[in-house]
Amino acid sequence: MRWSEFAEWGRKVSDWAVRYHEGLRDRPVRAQTKPGEVAAALPVSPPDAAEPMEVIFADFERVVMPGVTHWQHPRFFAYFPANAAPASVLAEYLVSTVAPQCMLWQTSPAATEMETVMLDWLRQSIGLPEGFAGVIQDSASSATLAAVLTMREKALDWDGNKSGLAGQKPLRVYCSREVHTSIDRAIWVAGIGEDNLRRIPIKGPGRGMDADALDAAIREDLKAGYQPAGLVACIGGTGVGAMDDLAAVIPVAHRHGLYVHVDAAWAGAAMICPEFRHYWKGIEDADSVVFNPHKWLGAQFDCSAHFIRSPDDLVRTLAIQPEYLKTHGAEGIINYSEWSVPLGRRFRALKIWFLIRAYGLDGLRQMIRNHVAWSKALADKLRAEPDFEIVTDPVLSLFSFRYKREGVDPDALNLALITAINNDGRIYLTQTRVDGEMVIRFTAGAFSATDDDVKMAGDVIIEMARQLETPHA
Ligand SMILES: *Cc1c(COP(=O)(O)O)cnc(C)c1O
Repeated sequence: MRWSEFAEWGRKVSDWAVRYHEGLRDRPVRAQTKPGEVAAALPVSPPDAAEPMEVIFADFERVVMPGVTHWQHPRFFAYFPANAAPASVLAEYLVSTVAPQCMLWQTSPAATEMETVMLDWLRQSIGLPEGFAGVIQDSASSATLAAVLTMREKALDWDGNKSGLAGQKPLRVYCSREVHTSIDRAIWVAGIGEDNLRRIPIKGPGRGMDADALDAAIREDLKAGYQPAGLVACIGGTGVGAMDDLAAVIPVAHRHGLYVHVDAAWAGAAMICPEFRHYWKGIEDADSVVFNPHKWLGAQFDCSAHFIRSPDDLVRTLAIQPEYLKTHGAEGIINYSEWSVPLGRRFRALKIWFLIRAYGLDGLRQMIRNHVAWSKALADKLRAEPDFEIVTDPVLSLFSFRYKREGVDPDALNLALITAINNDGRIYLTQTRVDGEMVIRFTAGAFSATDDDVKMAGDVIIEMARQLETPHA
């Protein structure tokens, strides 16, 4: 295929995109495919001869589309949203077309300078004070890894990259058990070791870390000869939205010289609404904060906003400058590849620019406020049903519930319910465990969701529950 044929196909694809979105409500949300079905529909070997675009496109519809779970579906209430607002999709289209590599300022000055300004727009939007610099990482997992590497290097007086960890005092990092698994993986990859990720007990309905227990754990570790390195706090834990009390735990960490990273991957987007900022009171004292515009806010994946107090620490941890990467004759420029683990970088700032301008912060705020209000209304409705129990109250737009039936094992019953709901296809939900027990999560967050979609979720949940045959545990 040549660029001369691109316009025709580009038009076909954009018409297809509009029809796809118009017809989404009629599709089952979760793919109803069996394992191996898609692979079996693909030829085992690549073609030697070129194939016409018509055939490739027809196969896309025939083979791929039935095997897709529709994350943009208005009744996607599972995991967390991964919204791709149309304005951000357009920006990605342009970026894919120009396809610049943005590792250095000189490899695409517009990308670098726009990234600096867009991250400052985002900083202001979520109410972080001046003094935080931002960078786009490919995912919250990468941002957390970069932060954990920084805490490691600081704690080792910048010797870890050089000498390795053998022979050093064992490091300690602290978090609650409500954090995302990306924290565990960052600890593995950084060589700190899972045994040195110390889980601090949680307390209260917010399921945040107990600050006194944190203090006691650090003191105990110091006495035992460990080197405490950092704290990873969560604002909006993945399971049920746990919120660490930053105003209580950050001062404890800082008193002991720890580096503090805050994972607000999902909930950070809601901070564009000032009325939700009480959830992360104390954030201004964090050393590193991550949130994902690619979740709730609508920037097509991937786009993770990482804010740091001291970029110098991050750059000292991650920058390597072989001669071929030096930019001579330019002062005061940023090479963002020195702020992240991968070298190559896409031009991700463009979609933030398109997104914020096309909807305005007001438009995005309204969307988030609607989701929060609709979720709360649904939680209230389920609470009023005699055979449903709200297990964790709404945190922004996320709550968890359980269906009850006299004398029936609740885990088996709720597993059967979620399976029935997702096989039905009108809505999509996922489960988690709260204090060891199975619960069903609900979170509204799709760009295109309406009040009616959320109400329908309530009807489907109740209908499917009452039709359920009693499972044998
Ligand atoms: C989604 C999520 C992550 C992981 O985000 P990626 O960008 O996929 O790495 C980490 N932490 C929390 C709290 C999340 O919700």
